[in-house]
Amino acid sequence: MVLYFRKMMQDSYKHKGMRQKMVAMLRGKGILDESVLSAINTVPRHYFLDKTFVEVAYENRAFPIGVGQTISHPYTVAYQSQLLDIKKGELVLEIGTGCGYQTSVLCELGAKVHSIERQKELFVKAKRTLSAMNYRVRTYFGDGYKGLPAFAPFDKILVTCGAPFIPDDLRNQLKIGGTMVIPVGTGESQEMTSLFKESEDNFVVNRHGDFKFVPMLEKKAT
Ligand code: SAH
Repeated sequence: MVLYFRKMMQDSYKHKGMRQKMVAMLRGKGILDESVLSAINTVPRHYFLDKTFVEVAYENRAFPIGVGQTISHPYTVAYQSQLLDIKKGELVLEIGTGCGYQTSVLCELGAKVHSIERQKELFVKAKRTLSAMNYRVRTYFGDGYKGLPAFAPFDKILVTCGAPFIPDDLRNQLKIGGTMVIPVGTGESQEMTSLFKESEDNFVVNRHGDFKFVPMLEKKAT
């Protein structure tokens, strides 16, 4: 299977060129964190998409990844990664593995990643893609609202779906001195929110404007 995948996936000069253009576009839109730009420049985004989208994989667009879900825009991935300010070796919990693209960017930033996905089909596919690309990441089929108490506390928590509210379990599983990045809202768009955990009960909350996400839904899908 892995061999088959490797044969299918080729990172050509053309792809690398498109990726560099995408990075230049992100820089132009205000992403200035060099470690984030370099991680994005490293990951072949087209590996995570259906063959139909290979030619357009480096445009600033969201694409369907199955079961009604979408891969996040590259700008959104870059923006959330920049807000997280990952340091090498940090323990990161990601909610919404999706196709695994954002997960791989976190790995390239040196994070130890645990990622939860509630759609079985996406969980299976992302696990396969990430392992074929040799990323050492723990993926789970489950409900992100509950987090992952067995591995808490986390240095950073990233939610990649639109949450109607900030789940208490996720607040509790954040380290003191840690940061959570979560889009909050139930309407057409969500407000990108970052929370810095000052103490057990005190969070410094910052808001960073509107983004569009698929909704964070409760319970595992079957
Ligand atoms: N970072 C992903 C974004 C995928 S979209 C990527 O780059 O592909 C968000 C994902 O969150 C979807 O796959 C959706 O199924 C998942 N999701 C929604 N609610 C969830 C929940 N409660 N727990 C875990 N995953 C959830």
